Amino acid sequence: MSTLALPAPGLLDPARPEPLPRADDLPAQITRSGLTGRGGAGFPVGAKIAALRRPPAAIVANASEGEPLSAKDTVLLRESPHAVIDGLLLLSDALAPRAALTIMVHPRSAAGVRAALAARPDGHRVRLQVAQERFVAGEATAVAAALAGGEQIPADHPHHLTEKGLRGGPVLVQNAETLAHVARIARHGAEAFRSAGSAEDPGTRLVTIARPEGAESVLEVPGGATLREVLHLAGTEPGMLDAVLVGGYHGRWARPEQLDLPLGPRPAPGVHGAGAGVLMLLDRGRCPLAVTTAILDHLAAQSAGQCGPCVLGLPRIAASMHDLEAGHGDPARLRRRLEAVAGRGACRHPDGTAQLAASTLTAFGPELTAHAAGRCTGWRR
Ligand code: SF4
Repeated sequence: MSTLALPAPGLLDPARPEPLPRADDLPAQITRSGLTGRGGAGFPVGAKIAALRRPPAAIVANASEGEPLSAKDTVLLRESPHAVIDGLLLLSDALAPRAALTIMVHPRSAAGVRAALAARPDGHRVRLQVAQERFVAGEATAVAAALAGGEQIPADHPHHLTEKGLRGGPVLVQNAETLAHVARIARHGAEAFRSAGSAEDPGTRLVTIARPEGAESVLEVPGGATLREVLHLAGTEPGMLDAVLVGGYHGRWARPEQLDLPLGPRPAPGVHGAGAGVLMLLDRGRCPLAVTTAILDHLAAQSAGQCGPCVLGLPRIAASMHDLEAGHGDPARLRRRLEAVAGRGACRHPDGTAQLAASTLTAFGPELTAHAAGRCTGWRR
């Protein structure tokens, strides 16, 4: 069971810079807390730190926020930049006091973070870098490439930054919200963190409530909260919705009968994977195939142009969804195209895109049938 009570102060409550606590046992506290990364993959932060073979040469607070529907890191940095900066400094103090520290932000956050760093006596320890705007910019190897002065695109071959990232040294990339939780754990302890959320999904997470046109609001919710509870906290009437896209453009559709399942760090049977914390609401009357087609077009255009299955496969997947929307498509053909890209990109972009398309086939059977018969169940595009 999750508790809907939230800790005070909340992650989005403005805070002035305060002296940092000692960070000697921070890695152990993080492991005990059960904190998982809030950037999308949902990997346990303690395990990621334990995988470091040497102290990192660089640590990055990643607020690149390439997902077009996400606004949580932007709002966090606007409302409470010192929580993120504290987390970055504390992690460095615990793991690698000499590491190069960077906060990489979406352009819309740059001025505010620059001012926050200037207001702190220890702000000189952190370098601000403005991220390049593209969907895959937030991928960890893309962040490392930008740190090295290159284009912010994923590496063209999979590798672990915790082993070798920048100039031969490990690089630790943590999402900005994750670091705000690290600061909270350092100040209040692992048990305080676990007092919110559920045993399986401790703590809280920031969620962006969006519609296809863009982000609408950001709120902090307890781990393990069901989709219905999150919608209630956001002031949304679930009865007005046809579906929710959980996890953003690389996410999965949830229909109304799935609203009582909880959000969690990763998708699992009976659990909606929160991904980057985006919930895109599809109001009744909107055509899910038209909305999905537009997203797939965007994702196909965001390929970094390095891997054949991504460059060639994603436009074909988008084309298949266009055909289905137009009423002359073949779901089996789309499934073959999804299988052709599975696991074949250097990063997760093809798999994430395929996941959205596969979920559309699963969730919207009646709508696909209607389109094939020349009708659309929606009355709004
Ligand atoms: S899978 Fe696509 S986005 Fe990822 S590295 Fe390859 S070309 Fe770039």
